[in-house]
Amino acid sequence: MCAELPEITVSAQERESPAVDPQVRVLLIGGSEADASAIGSLLGESQALAFELLHERKLPASDELPESDLVLLSVPADASPQLPMISQVRSAAPNAPLVVIGELDEEKLALRSLREGACGYLVRSELNARQLVTTLAAALESRRMVLQLNIAREHARHLATHDQLTGLANRTLFHERLTRGMSESRRRQQKLAVLLVDLDGFKSINDSLGNVVADGLLRGIARRISSCIQEVDVAARLGGDEFGILLSQIGEERDVAEVGRRVLASLSDPIHFHQQSSSIRCSIGIAVFPRDSADPEGLIKKADTAMYRAKENGGNRLEFYTPDMGSALQRRNALEKRLRTALEEDQLRVFYQPQFDLPRDRIIGAEALLRWDHPELGIVTPDHFLPIAEESGLIVPIGDWILRKACKQNALWNREGYRGLRVSVNVSSQQFLEPGFADVVRSALDESALPPVSLELEITESSLLQDVEVTVNTLTRLRKLGVRLAIDDFGTGYSALAYLKRLPINVLKIDRSFVNALTTDPADATITEAIVKLASGLNLTTIAEGVETVDQLLLLGSYGCTRMQGYLFGKPVPPEIFETWLADPPFRWSGSEERGEKDTEGS
Ligand code: C2E
Ligand code: CA
Ligand code: CA
Repeated sequence: MCAELPEITVSAQERESPAVDPQVRVLLIGGSEADASAIGSLLGESQALAFELLHERKLPASDELPESDLVLLSVPADASPQLPMISQVRSAAPNAPLVVIGELDEEKLALRSLREGACGYLVRSELNARQLVTTLAAALESRRMVLQLNIAREHARHLATHDQLTGLANRTLFHERLTRGMSESRRRQQKLAVLLVDLDGFKSINDSLGNVVADGLLRGIARRISSCIQEVDVAARLGGDEFGILLSQIGEERDVAEVGRRVLASLSDPIHFHQQSSSIRCSIGIAVFPRDSADPEGLIKKADTAMYRAKENGGNRLEFYTPDMGSALQRRNALEKRLRTALEEDQLRVFYQPQFDLPRDRIIGAEALLRWDHPELGIVTPDHFLPIAEESGLIVPIGDWILRKACKQNALWNREGYRGLRVSVNVSSQQFLEPGFADVVRSALDESALPPVSLELEITESSLLQDVEVTVNTLTRLRKLGVRLAIDDFGTGYSALAYLKRLPINVLKIDRSFVNALTTDPADATITEAIVKLASGLNLTTIAEGVETVDQLLLLGSYGCTRMQGYLFGKPVPPEIFETWLADPPFRWSGSEERGEKDTEGS
């Protein structure tokens, strides 16, 4: 066998000094010339390690201490009780491990040396090559481990305090620095400002250009923001498309506004990435300490209020917080008014996200998701306005609208030849509890002539638990119509399966939070597997949402959950794009790299 391997030539130099272990520089402090040469020759006997011995008769001043990997400190008999020498050496060469050579074979002395920070204690009269080399090697090894641990700790701290995508501080670190900055400013009687920078309409960039481009843009944005501030200031990524800037030691508020304007200008310069170029608009809200708030959360909230005002005023601008922006209530009222207009002026849109069937290897349906095509802000996702729509009751007419719209769209796809496609529509709990809800569904079906089985309603667990009588009544009526019923966000509520199994439900939709943690958290994996098994025992279909990786797909498939929805198969997109996906899906299981795994998936 060996004969087949190519011959390895080793140069003379390589043969003399093994390339694997470079020379270990040992610095002997104390002892006579004779001691040094004796130790030198003992070290020379080692075959595993190459040593270079340096010798200093006395401990030199720390700036004259030669660099070394390890220090051997020879302690004369009369000086033995004065181990403080050890701490002197340790502070002069803090990174080199230290081994003491003493005259006396005393356990106490050895222990004291170790306690003072030495890594080993050797007795001069008993020195032999083997013992010396092993002690030095052990000392080096333990130092290496400490260093590695420190690096690992440092790395862990960096991970916990920085945003992985952009390398900026994360929310935790931002908060920490803000708290510290505030107490410093208080002491120095200075001002400090928080700027919240939120990108306008970034969601639509994300959806239209895809993750890779969006991530690249976010990195570019982070660099631009950093370039607008000074060393002492902090830039952080606080969430998806939200950044924070902490300006300490500010003089005039004019200077703060200047930084804000610099950020606006620098982002509006087109950013080129992957042959795409995009100029970014953002809204900036500013709050100043101590004027606006005396605590970190308060200050961030005030900046947030100001940021919303900037958005309400059309975006791409900055606003300082003023008390008359005041209450969240006022902001809410303003937003509610705009939302009403949105409904009247046809600014609402329905996006569709594919639902994928693994065994059939195709898109079998879509979830209809609400979007607001805001005249200034671009596409806005429901998390920004759904809470207000719910509080104001606007969710009921909006919900009716999306139901009709989605039914019509699916009926159209049906006519175009995409038969059997199912559209899932989210139903808010208010809408579900309205006495006439089943009638609304029936009229949406009638109007569109969509076959009832092609409509699925997603109802959250908590809606179903609010009023048992109404729930049972409405569900029974809906089932009579022939529509399918799914429980949304399953697993986040009470998981009252014993109750749910008596309801006429068809589908459990496993919440994104479980899928998210699936490949990292064994507990979530166990729960998910249990949900799938239980559901199948109750004759319910499961669909997993938020599937982003092939690993998650494989795990879910192995549990027997073969219907999925998530970025892996496609993001929510406008109907025109979804239609092109029906003809040419962006994801194909049989076409994916894991082709070999396909046959093992349940079918
Ligand atoms: P949901 O019903 O849980 O909808 C799924 C949400 O997860 C959507 O957010 C979707 O864009 C997002 N998503 C899908 N796949 C992935 C993925 O792989 N990774 C991640 N990180 N996210 C993914 P969206 O569209 O912002 O909707 C948020 C929530 O708003 C929905 O959560 C739903 O509760 C509500 N909603 C949306 N449209 C309507 C509607 O028409 N009526 C009602 N009542 N609620 C709606
Ligand atoms: Ca849903
Ligand atoms: Ca959900």
